[in-house]
Amino acid sequence: MNSNLNMFVLSRLHFHSVWRVQTFTMPSFAPYLSREEEDELRTVAKAIVAPGKGILAADESTGTIGKRLSAINLENTEDNRRKYRQLLFTTNPDLANNISGVILYHETFYQKSDDGTPFVQLLKNMGIIPGIKVDMGVVPLMGTFSESTTQGLDGLAARCADYKKGGAQFAKWRCVLKIGPHTPSYQAMMENANVLARYAMICQQNGLVPIVEPEVLPDGEHDLATSQKVTEQVLAFTYKALADHHIFLEGTLLKPNMCTAGQACTAKFTPEQNALATVTALRRSVPAAVPGITFLSGGQSEEDATINLNAINNCPLGKPWALSFSFGRALQASVLKAWQGKDENIKKAQEQLLIRAKANGLASVGKYGGSSDSAAASESLYIKNHAY
Ligand code: 13P
Repeated sequence: MNSNLNMFVLSRLHFHSVWRVQTFTMPSFAPYLSREEEDELRTVAKAIVAPGKGILAADESTGTIGKRLSAINLENTEDNRRKYRQLLFTTNPDLANNISGVILYHETFYQKSDDGTPFVQLLKNMGIIPGIKVDMGVVPLMGTFSESTTQGLDGLAARCADYKKGGAQFAKWRCVLKIGPHTPSYQAMMENANVLARYAMICQQNGLVPIVEPEVLPDGEHDLATSQKVTEQVLAFTYKALADHHIFLEGTLLKPNMCTAGQACTAKFTPEQNALATVTALRRSVPAAVPGITFLSGGQSEEDATINLNAINNCPLGKPWALSFSFGRALQASVLKAWQGKDENIKKAQEQLLIRAKANGLASVGKYGGSSDSAAASESLYIKNHAY
């Protein structure tokens, strides 16, 4: 009798202390940001997805840009990388009509144009917001079927503080999920969601808007419904983790894949079908507090990426977020092709960038009419198991 009573008292006490801990340590607001800090993040995130605007992802790592340069027979030297990025950032200031932000790689962030102007300043002069890739690349996630996580949390707060001082206002971190018979695994979805949330928190504490990028790769034979289902699930894990880490969602952007059938799928789907799958997946998993969704192009041809984005914006479902672009390959393929590493082609290459930026700007408000005059527009840009 006595011991039963003790158990009862103990369990009441236990219940009470759990209740108190939860009440006092899990506030439903983000106490780590002041009102001013929230306002700044919210303003930057909104400016990036202003109507008709999106992001140029020019943050290829040294190895990845090397592959792009070797396709036009250029050596992967620091100066060739600098010259190529200079070409992008000295395009006619009209670029800012459709490009609100550029993501840079660490090396590029500190490079200068021929006349000594820092690239960051060139962008700011045009009214384009500089951003920075802060992850340190994809690494194997041991104990899985070749899945991965992304590294770069060590020292991240200090690096973010430096980039902020240097003029960056937003950041990007890319995680990768693969579709296969046994993937993505629970373990990979948990791990990648958690690392994205930890990154997002560190960015916000240092005044940078985090772009949260859980990319589901297009590799495989899977159909459109599978792409949709997996994307939904990956995003659900992601937003649960962001909630657990008290991320201020209004000061974030999401960078997902569009839902499309796998590269090796034999069935074909229309842009309208892709759009319906994509918007359905997003509606089921992305809170309305997120101001904008800036898709990656993921190996689609320039034209396909633009047409799918246009269809997404015309999809007749409610869409509480801006739906725009943060393209790498689908904004640069024609540019590289026109440039060929030659000074006399710089103007032509810059015209290609303007054409693609304008096409995607129109698509981000559902007004793209099709057939932009780009040199490489309909060529597939798919790369197996793509690294960035
Ligand atoms: P793609 O548009 O080439 O897929 O790259 C965008 C990006 O930044 C991936 O992290």
